[in-house]
Amino acid sequence: MDGTELYRKVILTVSGNIFVKWLSIKYGKKLASRFIAGDTLDEALDEIERLNAKGILVTLDHLGEGIRSLDEAAGYREEYLRLVEGIANRGVQSNISLKPTQMGMALDADTAYQNIKSVVRKAQEHGNFVRLDMEDSPYTQATIDMTLRLHKEGFTNVGTVMQAYLFRTEADVQDLMGAGVNLRLVKGAYKEAGTIAYQKKEDVIDNYKRIIKLHFDQGAYTAVASHDDRIIDWVKVFAEQARIDKQGFEFQMLYGLRMNDQAALAKDGYRIRCYMPYGTMWYPYFTRRLAEKPANLMMVLKNMFK
Ligand SMILES: Cc1cc2nc3c(=O)[nH]c(=O)nc-3n(C[C@H](O)[C@H](O)[C@H](O)COP(=O)(O)OP(=O)(O)OC[C@H]3O[C@@H](n4cnc5c(N)ncnc54)[C@H](O)[C@@H]3O)c2cc1C
Repeated sequence: MDGTELYRKVILTVSGNIFVKWLSIKYGKKLASRFIAGDTLDEALDEIERLNAKGILVTLDHLGEGIRSLDEAAGYREEYLRLVEGIANRGVQSNISLKPTQMGMALDADTAYQNIKSVVRKAQEHGNFVRLDMEDSPYTQATIDMTLRLHKEGFTNVGTVMQAYLFRTEADVQDLMGAGVNLRLVKGAYKEAGTIAYQKKEDVIDNYKRIIKLHFDQGAYTAVASHDDRIIDWVKVFAEQARIDKQGFEFQMLYGLRMNDQAALAKDGYRIRCYMPYGTMWYPYFTRRLAEKPANLMMVLKNMFK
């Protein structure tokens, strides 16, 4: 295991510690704000307008995961319905990302399905698209099944995410492409066992390139979500050689990371979409960002001592 892999594992483990969690929630809000567009929908919509003005598209996410009751899930469903309306009323260029566990997937699969379906239906009424984020491996199959079931019921405005670190992903990409599902391709953000996932970053990158190529080769609309120049530069060259128009696929990056580079990609004629979270349940999202890169932790620590 090299230093980066060790760092990622330590942060993901330490962040689960109850004392670290308490400390972070008490003192960390301001530090996390760099990665989060605000507490409220209105603040997020204002921020979308600012990014759209720079040519950056958005996917809007209301923070929340690992909920404990179906009432909580219903509350999030209502917030998402408001979010879909809010995007339509403001006329901003943003689609929607949501986490299946936030809608109750870990508690009751059918309720989660109904909750998600009502959001997807509302989005369809407004000509918008919903992305089911991919969470950790206990939910991989359930998320895929839900996406396919929605497609079969005529909701083709829903897609999901494929994680390059999982061994199963290449086969899943084949199946989902076959069903015409729009996919976001990522490396994967959770701690997964060596029995099901690549542990070395070179292996993840190799598999990532493999699934991106597979996706492009089938003529599917490809969304590559990464901050890694090894991937971004490779995709640019691949697309150019395959004569794929810069508007025929999209890059995606997270809010608060490489914002100048996001604007530069837009200026260069590429489609670039920024994943923008808002809301008050920021802790798990924030710790995954810290785990991804020591520089993210350094940036936060520097701000802390300013
Ligand atoms: C839009 C979006 C949506 C996502 N959705 C999901 C999801 O649904 N499920 C999921 O599991 N994961 C998701 N992820 C997270 C993803 O799986 C990775 O954990 C995350 O993107 C980190 O991998 P990376 O390829 O960006 O680069 P990393 O592996 O973090 O970094 C690799 C290299 O990229 C460069 N780099 C990285 N960050 C920066 C920076 N800020 N500035 C300059 N250079 C940098 C550095 O050279 C670094 O060494 C999403 C990511 C994005 C961008």
